[in-house]
Amino acid sequence: MKTGRMFIGGEWVDAARGGTREILNPATNEVIAVVADGTEEDVSVAVQHARTAFDEGPWPQMRAQERASYLLKLADLIDRHAEELATLETRNNGKPLREAKFDVADAANCFRYYAGLITKPLGQTFEVPDPNIQCLVVRESIGVCGQIIPWNYPLLMSAWKLAPGLAAGNCCILKVAEATPLTAIRLFDLLAEAGFPTGAAQLLMGPGATVGEALAASALVDKVAFTGGTTTGRKILRAAEGNLKKVTLELGGKSPCVVFGDADPDIALEFAMFAIFAGQGEVCSAGSRLILDRKLADEFLPRLADASSRIVVGDGLAPDTEMGPLITPQHMDRVLGYIATGHQEGAEVLCGGHRLTGPIHERGNFVAPTIFANTRPDMKIVREEIFGPVLVVQLFETEDEAVRLANDTLYGLAGGVFTRDTAKGLRVLKRLRVGITWLNNYHPTFNEAPWGGYKQSGWGRELGTWGLDEYLETKQINITLQPAKLGWFKSAG
Ligand code: NAD
Repeated sequence: MKTGRMFIGGEWVDAARGGTREILNPATNEVIAVVADGTEEDVSVAVQHARTAFDEGPWPQMRAQERASYLLKLADLIDRHAEELATLETRNNGKPLREAKFDVADAANCFRYYAGLITKPLGQTFEVPDPNIQCLVVRESIGVCGQIIPWNYPLLMSAWKLAPGLAAGNCCILKVAEATPLTAIRLFDLLAEAGFPTGAAQLLMGPGATVGEALAASALVDKVAFTGGTTTGRKILRAAEGNLKKVTLELGGKSPCVVFGDADPDIALEFAMFAIFAGQGEVCSAGSRLILDRKLADEFLPRLADASSRIVVGDGLAPDTEMGPLITPQHMDRVLGYIATGHQEGAEVLCGGHRLTGPIHERGNFVAPTIFANTRPDMKIVREEIFGPVLVVQLFETEDEAVRLANDTLYGLAGGVFTRDTAKGLRVLKRLRVGITWLNNYHPTFNEAPWGGYKQSGWGRELGTWGLDEYLETKQINITLQPAKLGWFKSAG
């Protein structure tokens, strides 16, 4: 069995108070590792190391090109261990291996992208009204960054946080989710092998309510970057208030997938499934509301239900698996609770609606792909993020109604539109109050493009130049070209 420790001050360490946590494979609920489970004491030690590393160097003082070389080494090491990392991700998180392989490749490329970006021109020079002053604007590291991530993309979220944070010269402390530390532990092995200086990056494990909260609250931390639930996001904000540290939040969603009557029905059908059932629906941007043209409903919905009920659900390591288990028995119960609520609220189940049992499913957290039709906008299953393989269908008759339904949510993360009329598609995408959109597609994510939401889906953006921006301070420098006395105070001569 594997064991895993935290990476603090350049060393692999046990929790100060000796706490440990069993890590389970969600396909079987077998223990696959035992890892250190930290407390506030470990946070305090890590923060001190990060503070020293930031204030005294060498990481923040290095030339951008040199920092980039470390990121590139790490990217190559990730690629070299891609198969092993993907298998470990599937064993710990449950997602099918083919999805984990994408995550690993994306993670390596995220480090490469920010290694490239940090060596590109940053800042500005411009003329000010005083011809004797040259103004420059430079971008500088923020300092010590606490980075708190969820369990649905453990390796990829680690990369989304560490790559821009480190490229920008910050000293980063990553706190992984309780259930899924294994690929992050392996990533830090590789980070140590790449030779990053002590204190540049550290790894904490432990409960969100203690370790996460202490990191978000620490007066020695300059920024906290959080990905997770909206309720936790509010707690992070309150914790961060003490020293008014910078905060970025990537939160939940209830994203619409809008299918117009003129869409290619085969393409729309497969993407409607992919939007919700990829990653078992445990995806922040999941297309969990299908906003469907009423005139398609009679033909489209039976086909959708039939195809969804035939998705191969199983252990993510099995070669034919198309959808894996949910992360924990507790989360599965939460999802089944929403399904029960859907029944009580009077929605009609088109497929699924139950836990999967039987020889390959009985020990794991498997829920059948589930679709609810005949919903009303005020139903709990339509309004709340379920974070599982549960799709709700809402019907519309006009373009305006489609937009109104799509925007009728507290969230604003993502949205997809399917139509053969590109002008209409663009018009509708522009009216969606969300940060990430796709026309005739769903889910593709690019290291180059900004990731983040409107409304209660978050603050700030990750990825692209926008993601780097969130890890940089902005300083103006005014240089007097010909120093001269001011003559303001007579007494100064
Ligand atoms: P969560 O909010 O429960 O936990 C996320 C992380 O926060 C974990 O590391 C947890 O330990 C920590 N945490 C919990 N309480 C804390 C506290 N009081 N202070 C500090 N840290 C705390 O979320 P989850 O259940 O792990 O993940 C699911 C949620 O994440 C969903 O809502 C999903 O939409 C969201 N998510 C969003 C994005 C995005 O990019 N917008 C990406 C992935 C997941």
